[in-house]
Amino acid sequence: MTRIGVLTSGGDSPGMNACIRAVVRRGTSLGVEVWGIKRGFKGLINGEMEKLDNRKVGGIIQKGGTFLQTARCPEFRDPRMVREGVRRLNEAGIEGLVIIGGDGSMRGAFALHEMGIPVVGVPASIDNDVWGTDMCIGVDTALNTVLLAIDRIKDTATSHGRAFLIEVMGRESGYLALMGGLAGGAEAVLIPEKDTPLEEIARVVEEAYIKGKPHAIIIIAEGAKHKTQEVASFLTQDEVGFEVRTIILGHIQRGGSPTAFDRILASRFGVAAVDALVQGKTGVMVALVGNKVELIPLKEVISKTKGLEPEMIEMAEVLAQ
Ligand code: ADP
Repeated sequence: MTRIGVLTSGGDSPGMNACIRAVVRRGTSLGVEVWGIKRGFKGLINGEMEKLDNRKVGGIIQKGGTFLQTARCPEFRDPRMVREGVRRLNEAGIEGLVIIGGDGSMRGAFALHEMGIPVVGVPASIDNDVWGTDMCIGVDTALNTVLLAIDRIKDTATSHGRAFLIEVMGRESGYLALMGGLAGGAEAVLIPEKDTPLEEIARVVEEAYIKGKPHAIIIIAEGAKHKTQEVASFLTQDEVGFEVRTIILGHIQRGGSPTAFDRILASRFGVAAVDALVQGKTGVMVALVGNKVELIPLKEVISKTKGLEPEMIEMAEVLAQ
């Protein structure tokens, strides 16, 4: 293999740049040219690509986002568009591809693999919702951003004796909410994986008040059954003791300088992805299993759903007492 491509797709996550850097530098060390494809599958279809080298990826390891940019490209679900991508790759003489992204991007990667392109996926998603890997690139940074916000909000909540509902990202996954709640000492966590009735939430907040807690912090994943405003209205009407406030953390959770963990994970993943491609391993995703980087078939990755560990959910409840 003499020329490979790298692209970032779907939602951006901190550490994607560190991964691109690792792909380029590992490729260079093995005598393989690395081309950067802009804007994910959208840029692939449009043939937006440029040759990268070690200097072009200098000074990016500490930067959030992705300098190759990313995009949602719903049309890539159409096999004709995948074929167009294959044509672009053949035209540019790119013999293999590293695809950095979340669950959806791994589906796009599998589609390219099925059309004969050697592909290795790299899981990057702040939701940690890609099956097969313990951690995705960006999760640790996003979690620390959430934690910083929780700590600050807790200060003011305590000073005023308030209940705060903090909405965090996670349309289908409660990972950030659950782990943020655990690490931030929240009174309750609402996640898509578990249906918590409004009455139960009100009971927890009221109990916190009766126990003499100076605040109540509830972390709500955006995909939880009951939405933040709905919970706020219910708690206000139910007179749970505390005055209720809400905050939606939003896109602040995506950006920022990646943590040491994310930079190292991204570097390990990038190197392992290039090594796999060069060794002729295709249709696989690099994954962190325990403390080892392993290769997992993309077919398996996209056919399974990553869930939360029930013990973690239980532990969050016990520690909130
Ligand atoms: P993420 O990769 O962060 O989960 P998305 O779910 O938006 O983000 O997926 C990113 C892109 O992957 C989509 O915009 C689309 O181009 C591609 N993709 C998603 N699902 C499929 C699929 N079933 N087949 C081909 N491409 C897909």
